[in-house]
Amino acid sequence: MNIEMEYDVVIIGGGPAGLTAAIYSARNAWKTAVFTGDVGGQLAETPEIENYPGVKNIEGAKLAMEMEQQAKSFGAEVIFDKITEIKKEDVLFVMKTEFGATVKAKAVIIAAGKHPREIGVKGEKEFKGKGVSYCVTCDGPFFKEKDVCVVGGGNSALTAAEYLAKICNKVYLIHRRTEFRAEKVLVDRIKSLENVEIVVPYVPEEIRGKDRVEEIVVKHRETGELKTLKVDAVFVEIGSIPNTDWLNGFVELNEKGEIIVDREMKTSQEGVFAAGDITDNRDKQVVVAAGHGATAALSANEYLNDLVRKGVFK
Ligand code: NAP
Repeated sequence: MNIEMEYDVVIIGGGPAGLTAAIYSARNAWKTAVFTGDVGGQLAETPEIENYPGVKNIEGAKLAMEMEQQAKSFGAEVIFDKITEIKKEDVLFVMKTEFGATVKAKAVIIAAGKHPREIGVKGEKEFKGKGVSYCVTCDGPFFKEKDVCVVGGGNSALTAAEYLAKICNKVYLIHRRTEFRAEKVLVDRIKSLENVEIVVPYVPEEIRGKDRVEEIVVKHRETGELKTLKVDAVFVEIGSIPNTDWLNGFVELNEKGEIIVDREMKTSQEGVFAAGDITDNRDKQVVVAAGHGATAALSANEYLNDLVRKGVFK
């Protein structure tokens, strides 16, 4: 493919940070495009959001779609192709996409999010898509009235367990510590559910089955005791890893591989901003990602206006 595209602002990633940045950037009349693999990112995989202001309770995918429509209503383009390379040539950023297009931009906002961390036990890779899942809203409904397990002790794991408890017969929640990292309100709700069994402090040892997942072996972290749980699915919710590999040193990262940003969402590369879970910001929350997406777009707006004033761009 030999397509060349040129924009004022290119946003990489279509989660809440990227889509909010698109709303702000397009509304400020900059020619804006979002390059993304999907709409919503991790938000689209979240069964329920109940802490986004003004919306009491909403499915993650629905909130993401509303954000996309709002961005498009201001003229932003949403292009389903991923950016795989980026460099600076004179005053423009030049990028390559997965489908082979060349994309040029005057400013760039990176909001490419994270991908799920794997447990790394025997059977995990083998049964991926055959009972091992990293997305409860995508795969949960396939396990209606079955026995399943969730691995993890953070907000994602407990939200997943709560969602599955409504449709499955039994949910084992396997966590490596007796204390949960998740918010107390979620922990209290999970503890009150009759069909959720909390399995702590255990770590997965092996996932077994013939053609599909049939059981998971877990190991007590102190005694070493092994226990086998009969389950049809293993939902892995043990955190995530920033999607920054493709940047190859273009912007500065911290030790976790997250993009280092300042309060204005500026990265180490002038003209490149970042927002959302891909950054070194502490709070990985939808509302925070959206807020930082807005800040990144406003900073890009200021950067571009300055270059226009200096006569670099028209
Ligand atoms: P997280 O908060 O990093 O929690 C990861 C969990 O997985 C922890 O309980 C951790 O155990 C466990 N874990 C990590 N590596 C493991 C391994 N190799 N084997 C077994 N267990 C392992 O990740 P998250 O739950 O995906 O949440 C990510 C961010 O999104 C958080 O900031 C969270 O607050 C946010 N979030 C918010 C909401 C909400 O507000 N409703 C919903 C979802 C996510 P330890 O506790 O022992 O470290």
